[in-house]
Amino acid sequence: MERKDFALYNGEKDYVEIIKLMSDPRKFDINIDCLKLRRNVEEIYLPLTQQEIQLVKEHVSELIESDYIDEAEEVLMALVCIVETDINECLTALINKEYYRCSTIFKNASAEVRDLLIERIETEDGERHNILCALSLIGDQTVFNLFNEWKNNPPEWINELYKPLDNYSLVAGWQLSEDGKNKNLFSYDCYPIKKENLTSKDPEPLLLLEKFEEKCNWCGTTMTTLFDFMLSDKIFDSFNIHGRRLRIVTCHICSCYTTVYRDIDFDGNSTLSEFNQKPSYLPEINPEEESIISKNSLKISRNKRSYFYGLNNRFIGISASQIGGLPRWEQEPEYPLCPKCNNTMMFLGQLQGSDIVEFGAGIYYAFICHECKISATSYQCD
Ligand SMILES: [Zn+2]
Ligand SMILES: [Zn+2]
Repeated sequence: MERKDFALYNGEKDYVEIIKLMSDPRKFDINIDCLKLRRNVEEIYLPLTQQEIQLVKEHVSELIESDYIDEAEEVLMALVCIVETDINECLTALINKEYYRCSTIFKNASAEVRDLLIERIETEDGERHNILCALSLIGDQTVFNLFNEWKNNPPEWINELYKPLDNYSLVAGWQLSEDGKNKNLFSYDCYPIKKENLTSKDPEPLLLLEKFEEKCNWCGTTMTTLFDFMLSDKIFDSFNIHGRRLRIVTCHICSCYTTVYRDIDFDGNSTLSEFNQKPSYLPEINPEEESIISKNSLKISRNKRSYFYGLNNRFIGISASQIGGLPRWEQEPEYPLCPKCNNTMMFLGQLQGSDIVEFGAGIYYAFICHECKISATSYQCD
């Protein structure tokens, strides 16, 4: 590594140069990879000025031109999720090279880019899956109408998809209802959950990972309050849950094997639901030794991030843990159905295993059916 490059990582603030070094395989250096691990992407992208953003986009165009698609997508992901800037020119360049696989970056695509995707879906036999993911994320009225049309008059290619059309829109957090309208399954307001040791004077709007005064009927461990919402705090206004307190309780062992349902109210109560079904398999565990309770001090941040931020798994050091926004699925999307009314339940929040314990894996998810007052928790591991 040249002395100049090294200096860049040691205090210099030329972020465009840092991004170029980090994303250009022609400048590959083992030290850069190590530095990627240490540096938080937000630190590099958030301070970019408009002029610098333009330079970064030009760099991405060059990467695409040289067929360094992975690297280009990584930078675009940061531009979309962190900077939230218009990247239509780069998207068009990717489409012209027939690359559609990184669907998240299409999230805020223009109508022109969307129409280009719609055009391509008829001809790109091997890429339909990716194009449908991208269109679902764009998720505007034109896309809803198109999905409705495909549902009512299925095109020939629909049988070649390896999952039903409905499942594509679930990645983007919406589904078509019987009357052809779209139903959102998440809140646009999205608050990250971060490790934070600072104590604030204000009361915390959310408590995490507290012991719940009940033992699991199935495995005998102490139940855990995954999330404890103080509903009167205004940051939860857009969640449309009216009450004082909401506790999402789970068994961190059994939720890995089945969806755990609880009857709730908006006064903080949570009781075993009659709809629960014991998982057909449970590992041998010693309840005394098992505790999910975190040694990390996790806190909700009052600073929102984009609701699709959590979708990407490319940023090292940035956690998926959040309240609201779109869930990051480790596997296929699995929104539970409410066991009472059969409607798809709304996503409330997720906690990444590695934020709970060192070397923890997977993600815990929380859902709710407002009408039936039922909460659901589940888990996915990659
Ligand atoms: Zn259990
Ligand atoms: Zn329900």
